[in-house]
Amino acid sequence: MKKVLITGASRGIGAGCARVMAANGYNVIIHYNRSGQAAGQLCAELREKGFSASVVQADLTDSAQVRAMFTVIGSVDILVNNAGIAQSKLFTELTDEDWDTMIAANLSSAFYCCRAALPYMIRQHWGRIINISSMWGQIGGSCEVHYSAAKAGIIGLTKALAMEEGPSGITINCIAPGVIQTDMTAHLSEEDFAALRDETPTGTLGTPDDIARAVLFFAADSASFITGQVLGVNGGFVI
Ligand code: NAP
Repeated sequence: MKKVLITGASRGIGAGCARVMAANGYNVIIHYNRSGQAAGQLCAELREKGFSASVVQADLTDSAQVRAMFTVIGSVDILVNNAGIAQSKLFTELTDEDWDTMIAANLSSAFYCCRAALPYMIRQHWGRIINISSMWGQIGGSCEVHYSAAKAGIIGLTKALAMEEGPSGITINCIAPGVIQTDMTAHLSEEDFAALRDETPTGTLGTPDDIARAVLFFAADSASFITGQVLGVNGGFVI
């Protein structure tokens, strides 16, 4: 049974990925930082269904905690770099701390996890890394310059690492979600959601399941000839 670590799986998109991967026969490690109770409940839910699941805690902005996390969980076959934060603020009002926090949570976290996961994948000559970026990383989002820069960094990391690890039998791909209804977008008003739906060709907003199914696709053996790609899952918002 292949082992998959999903970062930020206590809530939202990560939790959706954990449910879909577990239901499809993967041994799922649910990573969380602060939402221990939610992660524990999700783990119990999956185990009750007879699926393989466990939990692990780490603040992924801290490379020492990432190293310690991998000491606990050991090797993984598949890594889903999903943990992240967002913030909406005028560029001219961004502080050094806003910038550093954003880059640490969205980009450095993925770097630390890739670096820790790869040696085993290289040894077994098989691995999958699936990075969660954002459509704002593709086209840039107003009042989200630091978020957009971090998510564009995820796309660069994906492409460069795919070049480097292809010969080792490891694929690295990226998913760029559109607007997905989770805690991250919960501050938006009904009017905001209506406007976003209007701007989206499908006329709908996304769900964690939409992203999870793309993760499932990239994780499969049948996707072995796909690497370094960015898949927009956004209802056509960005084409
Ligand atoms: P969410 O509901 O806010 O969940 C964020 C997750 O990231 C939580 O599990 C949280 O863990 C974890 N996390 C945050 N900071 C962390 C840190 N320092 N160390 C470890 N874990 C940390 O967000 P979401 O909407 O599911 O988003 C998931 C990913 O999709 C993010 O990378 C986000 O940028 C991306 N995305 C989301 C949307 C959207 O519309 N929702 C669109 C495009 C891209 P704890 O709660 O346990 O602390």
